[in-house]
Amino acid sequence: MTISLATPAASDSASNAVATPVPFLDLRAAYFEIQKEVEQAMLDVCAKGNFILGKEVEQFENEFASFQGVKHCIGVGNGLDALHLAIQALGIAPGDEVLVPANTYIATWLAVSYAGAIPVPIEPCADTYNMNPERVESAITSKTRGILPVHLYGQPAEMDPIVEIGKRHGLWVLEDAAQAHGARYRGVRLGGFGDMAAWSFYPGKNLGAFGDGGAVTTNDDQLADRIRVLRNYGSRVKYYNDVRGYNSRLDTVQAAALRVKLKCLDEWNKRRNAVARQYSEGLCDLGLVLPMVPDWAVPVWHLYVIRTPKRDALQQHLRERGIGTIIHYPVAPHLQVAYRDLGLQKGSLPITEMLQDEILSLPMGPHLKSDQVEHVIQSVHEFCR
Ligand SMILES: *Cc1c(COP(=O)(O)O)cnc(C)c1O
Repeated sequence: MTISLATPAASDSASNAVATPVPFLDLRAAYFEIQKEVEQAMLDVCAKGNFILGKEVEQFENEFASFQGVKHCIGVGNGLDALHLAIQALGIAPGDEVLVPANTYIATWLAVSYAGAIPVPIEPCADTYNMNPERVESAITSKTRGILPVHLYGQPAEMDPIVEIGKRHGLWVLEDAAQAHGARYRGVRLGGFGDMAAWSFYPGKNLGAFGDGGAVTTNDDQLADRIRVLRNYGSRVKYYNDVRGYNSRLDTVQAAALRVKLKCLDEWNKRRNAVARQYSEGLCDLGLVLPMVPDWAVPVWHLYVIRTPKRDALQQHLRERGIGTIIHYPVAPHLQVAYRDLGLQKGSLPITEMLQDEILSLPMGPHLKSDQVEHVIQSVHEFCR
């Protein structure tokens, strides 16, 4: 895809940066950095022929569990399955309610629906965009079974009060950590704060495979065993089925590639952090709302999301300068056609709807160069002048 640039450089020194389009995310750059090692790992699996639940899956599970500081990791087919299987393992019945963020990717809600349960949306804090713990307790009913906070954009949700409310009301807590590989809450990596956590290795995530992949982590031996059974047809011994399970296993080729990429994760998150710092310094004082990081959070900048009521015009302005941006997400789950039957009208979740209309994700990734980031910053300045 080629993008023609409409505007001349602001100054001679900036002209090189302006000449180069800035993609929202360059997955190929990540591949090229580790090409040899990744290809060798994937080809080794092909040569061994252990495509389903091969040794590399278990190796990756152990390495990811130890990276996140949890006892168990179980590889599954994708992030949505990770959520769905975790909800099944934790216990759910048709008609039960699960508290979910109003402001999230729709997968969080779909996993609840798959289990026959009802997603009950909780509005976010207006500054962190994550589930507001102060709104959780009043949403609990006799049908509530669990709380499902999301670590959105790579920023940890405020886990202590959520876990405390869960304990007090006998509810399970499941973390949707699909965007937060490596992030820390109060100094500790995510994945073990609730009863379980669900992960996605979709290619664009901070730890992304070369296709679909996902995992569940937990410190509970029994829950871990349930996921292992559920992901593999409900079977412990081949052709003997204890429960009506699913086919959702982390692919061995993907596991082999993920083992290589896991070694890069801390370094790549560090680079994302440097990009975020450059944005935050370069974009202050423009009247835009920039990401807010609470003092208990170490985010991993899956996305760098800014806010302005002139969002659509800004996006267009950046597009004309070859800069790729995305809206995460343009339609909140409660306003999707898929959830029309919940009967949640426009206006029912005002903070979420305001975010939906004002947020914009700037280019972000471990392979963005500082002159590309500078081009984005200069182009935003140009718009705000
Ligand atoms: C990506 C994502 C998922 C789903 O992961 P898939 O691997 O695409 O199924 C779930 N929740 C959140 C918050 C996500 O960002």
